[in-house]
Amino acid sequence: MPTKTMQRKIYKPSEIVDFIVIGSGASGGIMARELSRAGNSVVVMEQGPRMGPGDFEHDELKYRNLSGITNNPNTNPQTFRSDPNQKATRVAGRNPLTYARIVGGSSAHFNANFWRLHEIDFIEGSKLGPIEGASLVDWPITYAELEPYYTKVEWEVGVSGLAGASPFDPWRSKPYPMPPLPVKSSGVLFERGGRKLGLHPYPAPMAINSQVYKGRPPCAQCGLCGGFGCEVMAKSSSVWTVIPEAEATGRCEVRSDSYVFRIGMDQAGRATGVHFFDNKKVEHFQKARAVVVCANGSETPKLLLNSATPQFANGLANSSGKVGRYLMFNKGGGVAARFENPLNEYKGANVTRVIHDFYDSDPKRGFYGGGGFDARSGGPLTWGQSVPDGTPTWGPKFKEYLESYNYWMTCAGHGTSLAQETNRVDIDPELKDAWGVPAMRVTYKDHADDIKHAKWMVERGKEIMDAAGAVQIDPGEVGAANGGVHLLGTCRMGNNSDTSVIDKYHRTHDVKNLFLCDGSSMVTSGRGQPTQTIEALAFRAGDHIAKFARRGEI
Ligand SMILES: Cc1cc2nc3c(=O)[nH]c(=O)nc-3n(C[C@H](O)[C@H](O)[C@H](O)COP(=O)(O)OP(=O)(O)OC[C@H]3O[C@@H](n4cnc5c(N)ncnc54)[C@H](O)[C@@H]3O)c2cc1C
Repeated sequence: MPTKTMQRKIYKPSEIVDFIVIGSGASGGIMARELSRAGNSVVVMEQGPRMGPGDFEHDELKYRNLSGITNNPNTNPQTFRSDPNQKATRVAGRNPLTYARIVGGSSAHFNANFWRLHEIDFIEGSKLGPIEGASLVDWPITYAELEPYYTKVEWEVGVSGLAGASPFDPWRSKPYPMPPLPVKSSGVLFERGGRKLGLHPYPAPMAINSQVYKGRPPCAQCGLCGGFGCEVMAKSSSVWTVIPEAEATGRCEVRSDSYVFRIGMDQAGRATGVHFFDNKKVEHFQKARAVVVCANGSETPKLLLNSATPQFANGLANSSGKVGRYLMFNKGGGVAARFENPLNEYKGANVTRVIHDFYDSDPKRGFYGGGGFDARSGGPLTWGQSVPDGTPTWGPKFKEYLESYNYWMTCAGHGTSLAQETNRVDIDPELKDAWGVPAMRVTYKDHADDIKHAKWMVERGKEIMDAAGAVQIDPGEVGAANGGVHLLGTCRMGNNSDTSVIDKYHRTHDVKNLFLCDGSSMVTSGRGQPTQTIEALAFRAGDHIAKFARRGEI
């Protein structure tokens, strides 16, 4: 880690650096570390501010409702429609696609559930496809190719868990570097219910320290992970892990408050650098030999489409027409359950137990879809804002409702979303953001199987909570998806340049010195908790891109 006295490297925009990495989140931080450790000069462009541990607040209203650290619908607006023939409109007070707009990206404010994909995830196309209305295809890489990088994530970034505890886990080459976090009440009850049904609950793998790891302390059990930055640095976010390590090379500058609005291209069809706004909205151009976009599954396609040139009239790297398409979330269904005694779920990491018995898609169910369950709860403010119909919002009944918070937990199911060509991120024809940059338009409609699977999950959730002894169970409603935080698949990888945007090394098929690596690279959605996969892909891509640079193949 850089010490307080260490001078942070600063490059002039006119200097030609080896790599620009756009985005400093889960993937961008790792890419920066791998490329700078390999001896390259690197500038990381991050549109959001850099926050230190003491800058984060425990303010649910600000962080959950007022876009305190996320993309803000007032300044970074998006439009939404469920049907490509409709006109997309803004959604009052929120953006459909949400991510953290700070150094560290969404790795700084996520819940930190870390699931590996299983072997089946990479080959579902050939095992289960085709599925009408969907593009379920195999990945161009296998679990075996990614396994060393899953392990690298666990040991380099810091993940707690118990290897071998789930009989459904894919094979692994090494155990977790830290034991699991302490179990919470929700985890104990969920485990009890699961075991009664013959299921196999196990300690949740989490990107949160359970003991001192690489100089960072263990979790302080404050209870505010999802949506919040970790002020004790126990959450293994890029901002506390790989970014300081990249900077410690002396070759990496992390340039915050720098919003890239276009990738520069020359006549020969090569990327030359990036056009960006600084914090005063002044335009600059940073030169580079190569560009790696790690801006997430929503912003990466937006940037490529906004970077069209006469040579690339449909957007950069878009000869296939697939940039922005196959947007996936993780559809799921679950239940809320009330217990007789207080659970005190307001403290501790969000999740401590998981069940993966239903991970695989099973043709006997009559639809495609699989997933995992975990035991969790929301924050008290969210509870206070989610008053059920028929409950007064004042007086003794309201007080009773507020106080009941402490007796409830959620059995949350996380599942699959099928890739569909019409689900996409593109550019709104009219709307612009606060910088005058054309804004993103989101088109999304669940596949019928996604909905069937989510409803099926609700039934399984009811059974688990019933077996756990719940005194009241509220089945979650399975509505149409109108947004998400797992932003996946919009620049999918593949061997065929007609049907994918990047190759298996994350190089765009169309532009030799342009690489993309983030949630947009994913080919299928997995079952939720995509970030360990996104990080494993970044370690793997970083390895290959550094090799290409050494061999002069960029
Ligand atoms: C509340 C919440 C909880 C979550 N919980 C979990 C969980 O428990 N487990 C899990 O696996 N996943 C979780 N996720 C999802 C997870 O955070 C993301 O999958 C992951 O961070 C995506 O990594 P990424 O590198 O693709 O993008 P990000 O981490 O989003 O990083 C992208 C970065 O690029 C920057 N950027 C974008 N465009 C530009 C531009 N034009 N110029 C400069 N900078 C730019 C952004 O500001 C951002 O910092 C959660 C997400 C949210 C919002």
